[in-house]
Amino acid sequence: MAVDKDKYLQIKEELSEKNITLVAVSKSKPITDILELYESGHRDFGENYVQELLEKQSHLPQDIRWHFIGHLQTNKVKFIAPFVHLIHVADSFKLCKEINKQGEKNNRSINVLLQVHIAQEETKFGLNEEELKQLMYQLEINRSSLQHISVQGLMGMASFTDDHEQVRKEFRFLKNLFDEYKQLQTTNCNLQTLSMGMSSDYKIAIEEGTTMVRIGSLLFGERRG
Ligand SMILES: *Cc1c(COP(=O)(O)O)cnc(C)c1O
Repeated sequence: MAVDKDKYLQIKEELSEKNITLVAVSKSKPITDILELYESGHRDFGENYVQELLEKQSHLPQDIRWHFIGHLQTNKVKFIAPFVHLIHVADSFKLCKEINKQGEKNNRSINVLLQVHIAQEETKFGLNEEELKQLMYQLEINRSSLQHISVQGLMGMASFTDDHEQVRKEFRFLKNLFDEYKQLQTTNCNLQTLSMGMSSDYKIAIEEGTTMVRIGSLLFGERRG
């Protein structure tokens, strides 16, 4: 199935007023689909597997801004470090240190979001409120040795549920954390991006103050499996 251009334009319209960034989640979709959106002027794409991202990145225009949104193992950071635009899923100090190390090797600073666990489901990755606080603290006290990582904001995924009030509650919780940490002026944290909202819940995320949505199936059609 090809790209739904009308849907794309409609979503862009919905986001433009509030200056919200659209990450087109192209995981499991072919390069031809990505190129179709690229030709329409789109540049931000999201992938969740390192191997798949590398494969696509090598075949596609170099000015695409690649967002990494899947679980990231420490030993895989080196593969995406040369080019990744934003890693949405930093959720441990160990991972942050490795991202910094690979940033240094590549002579760049790598942008990350800290992933916060906001859903009811147990299986998802991310930090709870206390862990987020600790990680922020560790990043701050080690800032002089972390010059190649730049914490740009927070990311979260709401529960998979039809209960809109539950989803809204989770987004609101994350937005409050974001606003709280945004006030802190620290050297390698400059919170400006709040990544929340997917195909099923991006409208709620807009109402709750998102600055970046990650949308796959609405643009590219349902994924198999
Ligand atoms: C797959 C995925 C998305 C997009 O999901 P859709 O429901 O297809 O919009 C967004 N964020 C993350 C982290 C994902 O893994």
